[in-house]
Amino acid sequence: MKYPPQNSAPPDAGARRSVAPVICYPIETLPPRPMEIYQKARQDLTKVDEVLVAPREAGCFSAPAGHFIRMTSVEGPQVGDLNLWNAHDLSERFYSGKTRALHGTHLSTGDSMWSGFPQMRPMATVSFDTLDWYGWDADGGSVHDVIGTRCDPYTNQVLSGTEYHHCCHSNLTRALAQHKGLDLQEAEAHVHDVLNVFMCTGFSLDTHQYFMKASPVRPGDYLELFAEIDLLGCLSACPGGDCSTGHSDDAAACYPLLVEVFKTAPGALDGWWSPDVNTYSRRHGL
Ligand SMILES: [Zn+2]
Repeated sequence: MKYPPQNSAPPDAGARRSVAPVICYPIETLPPRPMEIYQKARQDLTKVDEVLVAPREAGCFSAPAGHFIRMTSVEGPQVGDLNLWNAHDLSERFYSGKTRALHGTHLSTGDSMWSGFPQMRPMATVSFDTLDWYGWDADGGSVHDVIGTRCDPYTNQVLSGTEYHHCCHSNLTRALAQHKGLDLQEAEAHVHDVLNVFMCTGFSLDTHQYFMKASPVRPGDYLELFAEIDLLGCLSACPGGDCSTGHSDDAAACYPLLVEVFKTAPGALDGWWSPDVNTYSRRHGL
């Protein structure tokens, strides 16, 4: 919480506050992703892999460029924390902050998940979202946010003074370590801010603090991504379950999450191209 203001407002405070906001990053000039190709291609898919992520654990999966990834709620309402990497170079990974700056606080169909610098390109694009009907609720909440980070044992340690080892950060770390044969510290360095799949969140209207509320997800709901480049993904079934109460202990009811990877029919992606890395020269003025 902030201190009450120590300075009185100037006479023209109202005028200063009432200037019109300007969108920081208008996306009209972003190279568009060919959504019409994705919408057609997703009508005829063949499953090539699936991973059932256990509650309070995480699971890794691979999705070659041009494949679809479907993350589905099974058994009960459950949110997931998703990390994405370039399958051939873990240093290229999902950049939640820039994705938020471009597409807003929550993602749905048509929005891309961008990688960080210097590659900065679409890694995946949301191709279908069964919760797209939710929109914005009266609290200012919505689903699939890129404003949270991931629940983690460090923040929990500071806030509660207790150790908890099944926060999404640790789940992602263990799963990546196992999948890539890395030691824990090495793997931890690759874990990054997530896409909060199915999580219902926002900023409170009074204090603008990050809030969560019970996810509207129900078994059968899914969020589907199109892999724009060869991807390694890792999804954690958050210890918060539907995130209606807490998220860093064993109190909540937790359920598995199903990840399925699909290939498309021959020719279905004709006209699609995998995005190249960013063309900035990297000279930075020198
Ligand atoms: Zn979590």
